[in-house]
Amino acid sequence: MARTGLLVVLCITFVLLDLALSQSSKPKAGKKRRSKEKETDGDLKTQIDKLWREVNSLKEMQALQTVCLRGTKVHKRCYLAFDGPKHFHEANEDCIAKGGTLATPRSSDENNAVRDYGKKSLPGETEIWLGINDMVTEGKFVDVNGIAINYFNWNKAQPNGGKRENCALLNQSAQGRWQDEVCRSLKKYICEFIIP
Ligand code: CA
Repeated sequence: MARTGLLVVLCITFVLLDLALSQSSKPKAGKKRRSKEKETDGDLKTQIDKLWREVNSLKEMQALQTVCLRGTKVHKRCYLAFDGPKHFHEANEDCIAKGGTLATPRSSDENNAVRDYGKKSLPGETEIWLGINDMVTEGKFVDVNGIAINYFNWNKAQPNGGKRENCALLNQSAQGRWQDEVCRSLKKYICEFIIP
């Protein structure tokens, strides 16, 4: 009988001890779980951010493909013509809004590409804006980012407009050679998109 009593006491002691232990370890487990949850949240956020970036770059690629399909693709660039005549600044802003810049030929190959595409897509149009200007310093022609350009294709006696004419255009009737022009003139334009 005494033995049974001892066993019962021992059993009760073990149960209580176990309860006590599980109680004392609960907050720790909670903390662990919370930090685990935090980690999972962090991982999820990183993954969502990554997916979001991928979706955006896919969207950009799709937009670029649309541009290339509608326009033309030459020398790692896509060109797309717009026939609503605009001032230089408006044309430039329109190209930027579409993710490009005004066409800025960097070589005779690129200039020929713009000229040929312009002839086809803007028939009868002799003058097309280029992304080249000397607005800041007279005679110092730069691209739309303000970076000096190294390739020029000026027509004879061009540029000749001094401080009055600070924007460059490509002249189809001069076989694609350039001339300076008053920036507020209304011209059709071609936007250029660099293919990554
Ligand atoms: Ca000028």
